[in-house]
Amino acid sequence: MASDNWLYRKVGVGAPDVTTAVERGLYSVSGKLLHLQLGKLVCVGRNYADHAKELGNSVPSKPLLFMKPAHAVQPLQHERIYIPTQFGACHHELELAVLISAPMRNVSAAKALDYVAGYGLALDLTLRDVQNELKAEGAPWERAKAFDGSAPLGPFVAATVFGDLQKASFQLYRNDQLQQDGKVSDMIFPVAELLAEISSVFTLDPGDVVLTGTPAGVGPLQPGDNLKMQLTSGNQQQWDWHTAVADEAEHKGRSNA
Ligand code: ZN
Repeated sequence: MASDNWLYRKVGVGAPDVTTAVERGLYSVSGKLLHLQLGKLVCVGRNYADHAKELGNSVPSKPLLFMKPAHAVQPLQHERIYIPTQFGACHHELELAVLISAPMRNVSAAKALDYVAGYGLALDLTLRDVQNELKAEGAPWERAKAFDGSAPLGPFVAATVFGDLQKASFQLYRNDQLQQDGKVSDMIFPVAELLAEISSVFTLDPGDVVLTGTPAGVGPLQPGDNLKMQLTSGNQQQWDWHTAVADEAEHKGRSNA
């Protein structure tokens, strides 16, 4: 699987203190290179009550965890993101992404946020029809959620300038319609608790990313859709990223042929 076209390149984000990934390392546009290798993504399911409800799921008593490999990442902030179209509905799930800065193992919730390099946005792309079949079979979700390109991931805002995490929010607009509107304070398990719980199960390495679950409003993407994703930090700074959805069959970089 050729992956060169999936590597990050420096983009003109504009604001200082926004970090973005370059060539699978992570780079701060303020000039400080973060020597982080993009690693695994640990994802959380059903972390917003209204989203659990819309899919007819119960609210979990402990975080529901799954993973995506590094090859799941594609840049969110480029002109296009690519989705598979031959496996039924591909849903958007916009989520707060948390970039880990130091090894985490059995870290307490009280200390967990000290291990965060930055916050950003990611899409947890989900082949919903495939997932429903897998759920019915009691089978693992990876085919529906961990395929190559299943995690469009944007640049990160440094944690040091992000302000009070509980006051942060994020939105997804699809073709100018507000589709998802998430408040970090609505999470069932707050970020610090998630990181503590995750680090008790999987060691988190620098460069790993945690996707913290999606609010209500998930729905299918179609090639040609225009997306705007907006992140408001705890101190009310705002960033937005625009992209268009394209069929991955048109993306020549995906094949070895
Ligand atoms: Zn998700």
